[in-house]
Amino acid sequence: MKNVLIILMLLFLSISSYAQNGKPPTSLTQSSMALDDKIVKTEAEWKKILDTEQYYVLREQGTEPAFTGKYYNYKGKGIYTCAACGNELFNSNAKYRSVTGWPSFWQPVTETNVDTRPEPTYGFGTLEVHCARCDGHLGHIFKDGPQPTGLRYCINSVSLGFEGLKE
Ligand code: FE
Repeated sequence: MKNVLIILMLLFLSISSYAQNGKPPTSLTQSSMALDDKIVKTEAEWKKILDTEQYYVLREQGTEPAFTGKYYNYKGKGIYTCAACGNELFNSNAKYRSVTGWPSFWQPVTETNVDTRPEPTYGFGTLEVHCARCDGHLGHIFKDGPQPTGLRYCINSVSLGFEGLKE
């Protein structure tokens, strides 16, 4: 009987831990749900894959200091990918110089490759932007970008990889 109680308690603890770490279904947009190759890992698994800075930004919604990342002033031609899962996120054609100190884009590769949700602390309708495949936090979207979208996808360099165009 004592063993059964212990098992039940462990089961309850693991369910409540999942409930705390998991994202509520309402946070997923229609577009991200269309992605059929979602990557779901435990935080312990992500910690093994990502370095400290990447984990802080991608999994803990952190922000790298401005003018410190390797891509804010980078001008290579190619595709910026998710540092955690390799998902294609931004084309260098949509990158522009925003002088904010973070890589800035006016649109993602496709609307379905990123996922957005309200950022409660920034206000003014600011959105957080995440990788639609692995849910990694990338940065924020502000409404002061260039045309044609008027959006600024303000992205942390540590959340990004880069695949240059092959000549
Ligand atoms: Fe990803």
